[in-house]
Amino acid sequence: MVLVRGVLLNLELLFSRLLSNIPNPEIELEHLDEYTLLVAVMLSAKTTDKAVNLVTAGLFARAKTPSEMISLGEDKIKEIIKSIGLYRTKAKNLVALSKNIIDRYDGKVPDRLERLTTLPGIGFKTAKVVLACAFNKPYIAVDTHVFRLAHRLGLADGRTPDAVSDQLESIIPKHLAVKTNLLLVLHGRYVCKAKVPNCNKCCISDLCPHNLQRL
Ligand code: SF4
Repeated sequence: MVLVRGVLLNLELLFSRLLSNIPNPEIELEHLDEYTLLVAVMLSAKTTDKAVNLVTAGLFARAKTPSEMISLGEDKIKEIIKSIGLYRTKAKNLVALSKNIIDRYDGKVPDRLERLTTLPGIGFKTAKVVLACAFNKPYIAVDTHVFRLAHRLGLADGRTPDAVSDQLESIIPKHLAVKTNLLLVLHGRYVCKAKVPNCNKCCISDLCPHNLQRL
């Protein structure tokens, strides 16, 4: 239970409702393993998952390991991913992070936050998505959907994604934290939309402070 705007919010109940609605929340970025997940999440900055999936289909057909990515090279990567935003910087970072993974981590994606965030192009949000989705670690990445949901549900009041991430990780039990990002992203994308939340079709409407205050 957490105290939200003077009301006790039952987190276990809230998450069990979300889970009954989305029993197997999965990241919508296509990937094959930890490395391709890291690449896909890095490419998704300021780009839709759909647009990333279109380019990674071609990219992973040519290179799905750090050494294959280095061999493919920055120019060819640019050519393959040029339909997504910031593709020049992303191609450069992709080669640099692949070199780092080989030189410093024996070709394997590191499973610690402080190591992942030293890789070129990898910030806290990307690192936390990879740690939760690929390594089952209780980190909560905060994108625009999670940020909005956290505020509407009264789970956080931080002004930045990193502040909200810290707040969520401090109140959400570890066994729920692994799936929190995916559940809130999917709930935010399809139900609790930015402009007009679909409260009438929402499985947590009777628990949500944002909705209860409107009634
Ligand atoms: S009740 Fe409305 S505001 Fe609250 S989580 Fe559901 S859709 Fe979002």
